[in-house]
Amino acid sequence: MPQVDVLNPLDFTLSPPQFDKIPHDVLIPDLPLFPHLPPLLSGHPDLHLRNGILAADSSPASHDPDSERAFFVADLSQVYRQHLRWQSCLPQIQPFYAVKCNPDPYVLRLLAALGTGFDCASNGEISQVLDIGPVDPARIIFANPCKAVSFVRNAAKMGVDMMTFDNADELYKIARAHPRAKLVVRILTDDTKSLCQLGIKFGAPLATVPGLLAKAKELSLTVVGVSFHVGSGCYDPSVYTDAIMRARAAFDMGTDAGYRFSLLDVGGGFEDALFEQAASCLTDAIDTYFPDQSGMKILAEPGRFYVSKAFSLATNIIARRAPLGETPAGSSDQPSVMYYINDGVYGAFNCILFDHQTVHPYVLSMGGSFHVPATEPLHTSSVWGPTCDSIDCVCPTTQLPRALRVGDWLGFDNMGAYTMCAASQFNGFQVSKVLYTLGGFKASEVWGVLAKFAAEHV
Ligand SMILES: *Cc1c(COP(=O)(O)O)cnc(C)c1O
Repeated sequence: MPQVDVLNPLDFTLSPPQFDKIPHDVLIPDLPLFPHLPPLLSGHPDLHLRNGILAADSSPASHDPDSERAFFVADLSQVYRQHLRWQSCLPQIQPFYAVKCNPDPYVLRLLAALGTGFDCASNGEISQVLDIGPVDPARIIFANPCKAVSFVRNAAKMGVDMMTFDNADELYKIARAHPRAKLVVRILTDDTKSLCQLGIKFGAPLATVPGLLAKAKELSLTVVGVSFHVGSGCYDPSVYTDAIMRARAAFDMGTDAGYRFSLLDVGGGFEDALFEQAASCLTDAIDTYFPDQSGMKILAEPGRFYVSKAFSLATNIIARRAPLGETPAGSSDQPSVMYYINDGVYGAFNCILFDHQTVHPYVLSMGGSFHVPATEPLHTSSVWGPTCDSIDCVCPTTQLPRALRVGDWLGFDNMGAYTMCAASQFNGFQVSKVLYTLGGFKASEVWGVLAKFAAEHV
């Protein structure tokens, strides 16, 4: 693996990058573990952000009609480190990665190799997971409480037995299409402390649970446990305590209905910055409300926890609208300059609309240099996507260097969760592609895990 210097685009005090130190062969598919996937690059992701920019800046002569296209850089070692973090904080809870968050082929393979399960919501997601190799269908939970009957039938055919429900109609469908399913009742919990609330659409209020369980019994269905979801992007982990208390009540309702529940599914919602806090709330609550965990299986459905920090996006400034003649520096806190970049809310930045995110650009390169002096004067700016719709605003107000021009590059971190999976091609703009890297720290371990998986499954 080539040894390279770690270059941090956030560090404005760096001396100018030494281009002769950047190996020029890193874009060559030197590690073809999965021949049908894009190459896996070695070296730090920041290096590849820079290499991608250098490649774009030097390619106009190649007549590529989209030479300055935006691109992601994925750091697979970040996904790996999150898994180690999960195992150290929640060793008793088995993660079932929520595929919808980012069904990236490398992420799915790495997680499969690490032994996680998968939360799938559709036939498409189930096929995607089963297609990566012989993944045991017992490692999948079909965690969509409202499924098309054909999807239920197909799950039965594929051997996916574990599935959630929260209403009586679902029970009739499952009784017809998959009578041997192992059902999990999804209960309603407090989701008011989350970016994306789910309770308006899913979850059985506790008062309805005894009736649902009686109906399941009447239909000779097997209910094995309880699930909940506190909402995606949960910013107050104390809600897990209340959720576990309700799950306990639902377990007791199961006993009253003649079932012996053995599965507790604590859902998703885990925010990177609050993970340790959430883990400790959960652990304490589970120990309090489920003092006897023998014979019990506990799982979770983390999505954004695994991927949000693992992807960065590099975008090119394709246009600029500025007042003719320069305005004095710092004259106004109203945006004076509009920058247009080549990904927007119809693409990767759909997370602004759907996932209620705010994003923060930083300068990746300016005037052909990766070095932006800390003394660079700033002005209040806005950043827009490339489409013809005015809703396509990435950043309504932000401070950017006054010298920033068309052709310069802006970077965005934390772009791995709920971004490209929901991107459209509206107005003819393609979804930004990914450069895959093994990452900086623990890259060789990631390589080892993937190489072993590839040897067994390709
Ligand atoms: C979206 C979703 C998840 C993942 O949520 P995160 O907040 O990304 O962890 C898990 N389970 C279900 C049922 C979901 O719908």
